[in-house]
Amino acid sequence: MAQLFSQTILAWYSLHKRDLPWRSPYNTPYHVLVSEFMLQQTQVLRVMEKFREFTSKFPTLHHLADASKADVIKSWSGLGYNRRALLLHSFAQEVAEKHHGEIPNTKEELQQLPGMGPYTTGAILSFAFNLPEPAIDVNVRRIYVRYFQGKDQGLPLGKKEEMELYTLVKNSIPDGRSSTFHNALMDFGSLICTRDAPQCSSCPLSSSCQFYPLYDTKKATVLFVAEKKIEPGVYEQGKFIPNRIFRGRIVEFVRKNDGRIVSVIKLGKTVKADFNTEQEWLLKLCEKLQHEKLIKYELMKDKIRMYLGP
Ligand code: SF4
Repeated sequence: MAQLFSQTILAWYSLHKRDLPWRSPYNTPYHVLVSEFMLQQTQVLRVMEKFREFTSKFPTLHHLADASKADVIKSWSGLGYNRRALLLHSFAQEVAEKHHGEIPNTKEELQQLPGMGPYTTGAILSFAFNLPEPAIDVNVRRIYVRYFQGKDQGLPLGKKEEMELYTLVKNSIPDGRSSTFHNALMDFGSLICTRDAPQCSSCPLSSSCQFYPLYDTKKATVLFVAEKKIEPGVYEQGKFIPNRIFRGRIVEFVRKNDGRIVSVIKLGKTVKADFNTEQEWLLKLCEKLQHEKLIKYELMKDKIRMYLGP
């Protein structure tokens, strides 16, 4: 069954693959690394544009490692989740220092580096080095759980099930084709076996998929329901906005006003449309960003001077 699954996915991919700038023949370990950091929580289309800009500015790991944090944060504009820029920069610096600029190709070494979790480690090993290491993201998880187990993914799996899933994915990677196979899974999960509207009736796997009969008959009840995370935030013009959005706006403001003295009110009104008296809230966000080394600031009564980086 695993072989049929893998061969079908590869055959589908040979006809439908997406042309992405970090894929073969441009998939050097460095390019894969940058794309993986950018793709966490950000859509492919947005990443495509920024990826080209970023890799033109920092064409190699050494260029990135030698850049200042402020410069890297500046170049991350438009991608959100700015902490990823700092982690990527720290990763590059550590590789330059401890591995002579060569991104390592073992799980053990990669896991010691900043920003690496099980998925990113698997992604570097499979996409960049073509090694048979599973890179299990939400797409891969969803496809396997549906196809092999006939379940949909509503709740996180336990430790034992995670291990089983890992083994299942590992055993299904075709010999010598890990990179292509993982790219195929990513595209299949984004275009066919999607979260909310799987294209079961036109799916090449439907005749052997365990989930297909369920989807066909009870689709209203078995569709994936994401658990909503409750994030801290405040209301803006009557709508609840998580603090991470305001944090992103503060960093964006500093990108445009690096080193300038501005009034706290001006900062507040740029960050939050109906800003009025929430100075304490605003400064707490700034303090946290400073603590994370994304910005630094000096407060002068009702004025503030801000800089990018530590
Ligand atoms: S038949 Fe439907 S659920 Fe099964 S793999 Fe294809 S798209 Fe996914």
